[in-house]
Amino acid sequence: MEARKLEFESLYFDLFELDSGIFAAISAEKIPSSNAGFFDLGNYLVIFDTMMDPYATRDLIKASKKFTNKEPSFLINSHHHLDHLFGNRIFPMSVPIISSSKALLQAEDTLKTRFKDFKERAPEELKRTEEELEKQKDPNKIKEFQNDLNTWNEIKDPNFSLRLPDFIITDSFTIIGTRNQVEIVYIGAAHTEGDIMAIFEKEKICFMGDILFEKTDPSWATSTQGVPTPPDPKHLQATLIEYAEKDFGVYVPGHGNLCTKKELRENAEFYNEYYIKNN
Ligand SMILES: [Zn+2]
Repeated sequence: MEARKLEFESLYFDLFELDSGIFAAISAEKIPSSNAGFFDLGNYLVIFDTMMDPYATRDLIKASKKFTNKEPSFLINSHHHLDHLFGNRIFPMSVPIISSSKALLQAEDTLKTRFKDFKERAPEELKRTEEELEKQKDPNKIKEFQNDLNTWNEIKDPNFSLRLPDFIITDSFTIIGTRNQVEIVYIGAAHTEGDIMAIFEKEKICFMGDILFEKTDPSWATSTQGVPTPPDPKHLQATLIEYAEKDFGVYVPGHGNLCTKKELRENAEFYNEYYIKNN
């Protein structure tokens, strides 16, 4: 089936049905962020990654209910980076959050200090964001800054807590639904210490998280801002080559538009050129 763009109003993403019951939320140009997905397995609704902005995650849940008539059964975090799990806290505690054991460890290690820092910075960030908001005329920017204000207020609240994964895997497994079945593939160290992907073999669709980007940028290799250095660039490159050789029609990247084998090969070459060749 050809990917079909659906009618859904969101500032944050465009919604596609890639095959029957398999949906990808692709970050919109208006407020560029990370991608996510949701899968109607018949008896289960699986959400793949959240989005950085809590309002984007709320839209994702709204879209999943609208197009599947179901409540989320499971949430998957492809890896521990904040732009993929910051929306975890929006999900009810009855929804298990699946990640690799390494993703949980890395989240515990890095995010606690980051949030301590965020809490300290919150008053000054609120002031700065309010000033920015006053200058804005673009309605999308206004919405973005209002959402930032709400998020900083939430972080400042002493009761704020980030919900971490609680259904921890160290290997691949399959969820066999009454309609579709999805394989949750444990990759291990690649973009982070513990990446996982979601695969629909029959439909030839692969949700890759940040193992794949539509576009890469050589400045990542030299800058401390932006995309962090992958812990295992060789395994990342090998995974990209392995999956480019498999029989998939659509690859959903962690950031950017839907991809084909071409982008996987470009990503593999990028890691070779900037992270492997001279090291
Ligand atoms: Zn990432």
